[in-house]
Amino acid sequence: MTDTSWDLETDIAVLGCGAAGSAAAIEGHDRGAEVVILEKMPPATAGGNTRVSGGIWFNNRDPERAALYLESLCGGFKLPQPVIKAWAEETAANTFWLTGLGAEVGPHADYTPEYPELPGSDAYGGYMGIGGKIGNALLFGFLQSAIRQRGIEILHETPGQELITENGRVVGVQAVRAGKPFRVRAHRGVVLATGGFENNPEMVADYLGMADPPTWGTPASTGDGHKMAMRIGADLWHMDNMMAIVGVRTPDFHAAFATMGLVGPKGYIYVGPDGSRFVDEDVQIRHGHALIHGRYELYPLQKAHVVFDERARRAGPLVPPPEYMPVGWNTVIEKYVWSDDNLAEIEKGWIVKADTLAELERKLGIPAGGLEKSVTLYNRYCAAGEDEQFGRAAATLIPLDEPPFYGFTSGPILAWSNGGPRRNEHSQVLNLSGEPIPGLYAAGTVSSTYSWCKDGGFHIADALAFGRVAGRHAAQRSN
Ligand SMILES: Cc1cc2nc3c(=O)[nH]c(=O)nc-3n(C[C@H](O)[C@H](O)[C@H](O)COP(=O)(O)OP(=O)(O)OC[C@H]3O[C@@H](n4cnc5c(N)ncnc54)[C@H](O)[C@@H]3O)c2cc1C
Repeated sequence: MTDTSWDLETDIAVLGCGAAGSAAAIEGHDRGAEVVILEKMPPATAGGNTRVSGGIWFNNRDPERAALYLESLCGGFKLPQPVIKAWAEETAANTFWLTGLGAEVGPHADYTPEYPELPGSDAYGGYMGIGGKIGNALLFGFLQSAIRQRGIEILHETPGQELITENGRVVGVQAVRAGKPFRVRAHRGVVLATGGFENNPEMVADYLGMADPPTWGTPASTGDGHKMAMRIGADLWHMDNMMAIVGVRTPDFHAAFATMGLVGPKGYIYVGPDGSRFVDEDVQIRHGHALIHGRYELYPLQKAHVVFDERARRAGPLVPPPEYMPVGWNTVIEKYVWSDDNLAEIEKGWIVKADTLAELERKLGIPAGGLEKSVTLYNRYCAAGEDEQFGRAAATLIPLDEPPFYGFTSGPILAWSNGGPRRNEHSQVLNLSGEPIPGLYAAGTVSSTYSWCKDGGFHIADALAFGRVAGRHAAQRSN
């Protein structure tokens, strides 16, 4: 179908202004293309998970070794070699690209690989960040200023809805603007950079097998780009991969709070709906996976009650303060600051309080006796200095014996999804026959590279890398 009723014509239409969309737009522009960004959200909340993220990317210090690391992290969920190679080379160029745009970049703290035992992990050189800092939308702010400097237009509150095709080629996109259809002709291509599908309960249930988990970041990640691509015959890859984290859901905000503050004296346990412990609560969580019974599993994946006592309540905030971790929707956008002693949140009812374990059981909906039994056993392990059930480290075996007792139910938080339209090393979206759909690109969380395990800073790195690749490739073609 040929359609001439365009509201706007450009070379490249980018959907979304997170890290992937920004990188695509900047690179496309710098390669000589005219670029327009269509963004679903208003200026105050645009920028997706990038805006509320740590904004730090992994320092890839050896592309060849990094390729091996990624291949090892994929385990049995293999990626095409050209994609691995492009990922390794392009993520190694991220820092150089950002400094070339004028960013001040530095290492953020001293991080080691989360999977040191895997071949190639020596390529992992920790995190890099704008000014060497984490969070506070620093990366998003920098990318926005680079976009403004170039005069690239961002049309806010203009969500893309349908891809427009002619003879099997994507030639534009239909969005909605001010309540009306808004048709954009893109002479060189459309880049989907619309983020994940973690806020689309149906997709989350179907693809991730999770029932209504809360999220950590933007509410805008509803799988729009996925649906647009699927409607025109795109294939999908690793739709069942994701990153989750333990956290507190509240009725007051759409997002949940990640309880990375469960540090210091670790006097807490996780129990299932029947009140029984099921895991070493101190197991290292490696961006959505943990080594359990000798194999990497997606973790946390199931709902669990987090239970602690007065000693742990006093030990410090469950949610890290903004000066330490200015990250997450509730901290960055809602500006909520968790109380140092957790009392404000207990007062609000976000955390349940009870004088006895029996009362806590009732309040959390655990069958009578289930929790008491687990705590008695756990306290016995604490006294003996050995967790016979799950092998939790002796130093973290702190008894739950100081009332009152507290608990909350962790969803867990679905931080972000990883699967989406299958794409190749040029960020071109592939159809069911493995052929590129001409004119269609995807980058970032909408189609992340990661099929299984992933390390810290990998996602921003992936979004920047394949965003740039998409912008560069699209700038060189014509419809
Ligand atoms: C709290 C938190 C902390 C994190 N910290 C880190 C970290 O430190 N390092 C790291 O590597 N990763 C981190 N991640 C993951 C990382 O932030 C994301 O993987 C990455 O930012 C994704 O970038 P993106 O551009 O693909 O998507 P996003 O940043 O989510 O951007 C997508 C954009 O598309 C827009 N959009 C959605 N639908 C449409 C539509 N229909 N039309 C137009 N626009 C649309 C959205 O509004 C948004 O602006 C974190 C994630 C979270 C939630």
